[in-house]
Amino acid sequence: MVEPGPAHNKRVETTHELSLRRTQGKRNSSSDPSAVPVGARHASPLQPLTSDGAAREAVATVERLLGGVSPDAARILERALEDRELTVEEGGRLLEAKGLDMMALFLTADALRRRTVGDVATYVVNRNINFTNVCIKRCTFCAFSRDHREEEGYLLPLEEIIRRAKEAWDLGATEVCIQAGLPPKMKGSFYIDLTRAIKKELPDIHIHGFSPEEVLYGSIRSRCTVEEYLQGLKEAGVGSLPGTSAEILDQEMRDRISPGRITVDQWVQVITAAHRMGIPTTSTIMFGHVETPWHQARHLAFIRDIQKQTGGFTEFVPLSFVYLEAPMYREGLLEGVRRGATGDEVVKMHAVARLMLHGYIKNIQVSWVKEGPKVAQLCLEAGANDLGGTLINESISTSAGAQYGQLVPPRELRRIIRDAGRTPAERTTTYRLRHVFEAGDDPIEPLDLVGDHPEERFGSYHRLVKMADYRFRNASEQQRKAPAGDSARSKE
Ligand code: SF4
Repeated sequence: MVEPGPAHNKRVETTHELSLRRTQGKRNSSSDPSAVPVGARHASPLQPLTSDGAAREAVATVERLLGGVSPDAARILERALEDRELTVEEGGRLLEAKGLDMMALFLTADALRRRTVGDVATYVVNRNINFTNVCIKRCTFCAFSRDHREEEGYLLPLEEIIRRAKEAWDLGATEVCIQAGLPPKMKGSFYIDLTRAIKKELPDIHIHGFSPEEVLYGSIRSRCTVEEYLQGLKEAGVGSLPGTSAEILDQEMRDRISPGRITVDQWVQVITAAHRMGIPTTSTIMFGHVETPWHQARHLAFIRDIQKQTGGFTEFVPLSFVYLEAPMYREGLLEGVRRGATGDEVVKMHAVARLMLHGYIKNIQVSWVKEGPKVAQLCLEAGANDLGGTLINESISTSAGAQYGQLVPPRELRRIIRDAGRTPAERTTTYRLRHVFEAGDDPIEPLDLVGDHPEERFGSYHRLVKMADYRFRNASEQQRKAPAGDSARSKE
């Protein structure tokens, strides 16, 4: 069932595997009179792993505890370890697991992670550029967007966007992640022109940009098809799309939390078109608001079904709802909205994602921005294998009340990974390993020298919304009139 690994790994897997068998043994005991007592059966393989009585006792205790996993949870976990595809009902059952069932889930996800991607945990050196917070939509979970008339509406001029990209490149970033609001009256080709302008200055940087919602908006404003718009983005140099604006892929739920948002069908149309054209995307879920475990499990199965058809998802990223400043919570817009997921729920989501997507999506990313470095570390021990990016300017979660800052430098990401007992590696956006940092390899990189107050150098979202220089009301007209280049695809 489980491939043998290094000695340390083998101990964990074997303990779990045996405990699952023990549970099965209990279920079968009435029909199997020759069943050997579990303790006796397992005493021998475990003994060589410990040299003193106390440690042996600890292992025996863990085994006893895991033997208490309920039969239905044990059966599902066993199926996962046998590489079987879990159903929505099974995923939902695991998302509700508590106590020992939950601990067994974490161990199973950890075992599958190790079997799939080994002990390396990755990160990417990147910068977020959220170039405007002005948006024509009013998603009730979004604290980032502003109306174009509001004082706090900002729009970064093109030269500032390029300056930020160049600064990131000089500091070792390989990627810029570009997402923003949907500004009114935007020139249809703006995303394409922006991509071309960045690539002209930085031909080797990876542009991870433009959510399905933005691609759809660009195509509508350009009066062209989604495919034509994507072709324009690809030719301009977009390397991949963020699979955001997914939230929960259930139309009824979307109509409650973000009426007017890109529909499920439109999201699928953009994502599958991108995949067909060779543009990879991430995949995401936003959880911890008004959805149920069943919605979450169904979302995972939905993502899995798309991946079976296209193979275009690079990773799955659970994003827990940050409630503090979200209008749906702060203004009481939605009955029953929760204050985000609990710690247990966050870790379970990563673990169940590992199990349900097993065999289809190899990389499960945990977001330190949403969960904080400490919970992120726990997720690394329950199925996750990636910590996301350094980010440099995180705005969207920060505006919603996330407290974890806007930058985690590479050395700190490596420390988090090493403290979780894993080997850190820097990757590209598409998960090619750039550098595996074996023990003792811990260089100081330019971003590590920024210090404890990155906002002094890079600015911050809270400062940005106060700056008169970038006020949307003043800048939008100028920006619309100053394209970075012509778009062959734009019909405007
Ligand atoms: S989530 Fe995106 S589309 Fe919705 S209001 Fe916020 S910025 Fe606009």
